[in-house]
Amino acid sequence: MSSTALITGITGQDGTYLAELLISRGYTVYGLVRGQNNPRLAVVAQLCPGVEFVEGDLLDQSSLIAALETCQPNEVYNLGAISFVGLSFKQALLTGEITGLGVTRMLEAIRTVNDKIKFYQASSSEMFGKVRESPQTELTPFHPRSPYGVAKVYGHYITVNYRESYGMFACSGILFNHESPRRGMEFVTRKITNGVARIKLGMQKQLTLGNLESQRDWGFAGDYVDAMYRMLQQPDPDDYVIATGEMHSIREFLELAFTRAGLDWRDHVGSDPRFFRPAEVDRLVGDASKARDKLGWTPTTTFKDLANMMVDSDLAIQQRAAAAGAPAG
Ligand code: GDP
Repeated sequence: MSSTALITGITGQDGTYLAELLISRGYTVYGLVRGQNNPRLAVVAQLCPGVEFVEGDLLDQSSLIAALETCQPNEVYNLGAISFVGLSFKQALLTGEITGLGVTRMLEAIRTVNDKIKFYQASSSEMFGKVRESPQTELTPFHPRSPYGVAKVYGHYITVNYRESYGMFACSGILFNHESPRRGMEFVTRKITNGVARIKLGMQKQLTLGNLESQRDWGFAGDYVDAMYRMLQQPDPDDYVIATGEMHSIREFLELAFTRAGLDWRDHVGSDPRFFRPAEVDRLVGDASKARDKLGWTPTTTFKDLANMMVDSDLAIQQRAAAAGAPAG
C-alpha cells in the first residue's frame, strides 16, 4: 500500500529535499502552504513537480485539522518554523507561537483526526546553545541562547510528552546545521557562497558578516532528510542527534569558499555589528552514534565538498542571471 506524507515547511530547504526523497520512494506528498499567493510555491512546484499543496497554518488549529482530513497522511513531518535565529530575536513572540506552540497544534490535530499518524518534529542543535558537554548527544542538557532555541526546546519536549502521554508515534530529530545550494540567503554559509559568486563575477566587492569566531557542525541537507525518513520507519519512536561529528569555524568556511573561486577572503570580508547576536552559540558539535547504530545513517558529504557544491551552484546561478541581464539576489 502506498504511503502519504504531509510536510509543513515545504517551501524551505529541507521541505524540498524531503519531498524529493519521499516521492522517489513512491509516496504521495502534500505540502502545507500558508497565506495567499505564496511566492515560494512556484519554486517548490519546479523543484518537486509531484508535490500537492494543501492550505493551512501552524497558527490556526482548525486549518491543521482540515488539512489532515484532506490528506489522510500516514506520516507528518513538521519542518515549518521561524527558523532563523537572527529573526527570532526581533520577533520573539511570533517565534514562540509558530516554532513552539505550532508543534502542539499539529500534535493535537493528529490526536483529533487519527492518532496513528506518525509524527516527525524538526528539533535543533540550537537547543544545546551554551553547551554543557562536547560533543552533544541525545542526553546532553539543553541551554538555548535565542528565542528560536527556547521555542525548539518547547517543541522537543511536547513531542516527547505526547509520545509518553498518548502513546503516539512521535519522533524528534535533533539536527545540527545542515546546508545546501537551497539554503536561505540569510544563513551564514549561503550568504558567503552567494557573496563569493558575486565578487568573482564583479557584481560586488565586499561581504559584510558578524561574529567569525563561532564554530558549527555543518552537514548536507540532502543527507539529513534521509535521517528524518528513517526515524519514522523504525518499530518504535525515539529521538536522535543527526550530525557529522566535525566542527569547523566560519573562517574555515570562508577559506574554502573563496579559494574555490580563486579568491582570498581576507581581501573581501568586512564586519558589521548588525550581524552580531545579543547572545551567541559559540561551539556546536554532535555525536550521531545512536543514529548510526539504530538507523544505519551516516553523512555522505564532507565539509569541503559541501562548500564547493554551494559555491559552484551560486556561480552558475549568478552567471545565468548576468547572462539574462537580471539581478539574482
Ligand atoms: P545558526 O547556527 O542556526 O544560527 O545558523 P547561521 O548560519 O544563521 O549562523 C551561524 C553562525 O554564524 C552564528 O554564530 C552567527 O552569529 C554567525 N555569523 C557571523 N556572521 C553572520 C552573518 O552575517 N549572518 C549569519 N546568519 N550568521 C553570521
